[in-house]
Amino acid sequence: MNSLRLITLDGHAMFAPCCRCAKGQQRWDRIAGKPYCPHCQEALARGEAPPLVERTEPRVCAACARRGTVAFISFPLDHAQAVEIDLCPDHLRGLVARQLGPHAYFQLARQLHTLGIDADDIFLLHGAFYDECGRALRPALDTDE
Ligand SMILES: [Zn+2]
Ligand SMILES: [Zn+2]
Repeated sequence: MNSLRLITLDGHAMFAPCCRCAKGQQRWDRIAGKPYCPHCQEALARGEAPPLVERTEPRVCAACARRGTVAFISFPLDHAQAVEIDLCPDHLRGLVARQLGPHAYFQLARQLHTLGIDADDIFLLHGAFYDECGRALRPALDTDE
């Protein structure tokens, strides 16, 4: 199984309220199967919400090939299917906080491209957050580490 793949969720499973604040019933991103609204994702990225505690699965990270991952699901703009990405804890944190390094960013962008999806269609990888060199423009936390 590829570390980054298209999956189909049925209509009912697609629309679920945020697991943290119960807001809305939209196509929220999922972390380890649980829906998170953008607000709760941001709080998570900023360390203002209780941290994620999820068991890792014995798969390979789509960004660095490290084993031990958590599945992240996102719904690309104008696509019927969802994208599921296996990410190690570091890269999951990096994606949610919009501060992946250029290497990780391009790894994900390249694999999305082979599925016919533009990185721009994934909210957290949008061009507003990364420049053409894959540098993070608007990380949730402004740190230099
Ligand atoms: Zn929420
Ligand atoms: Zn990784």
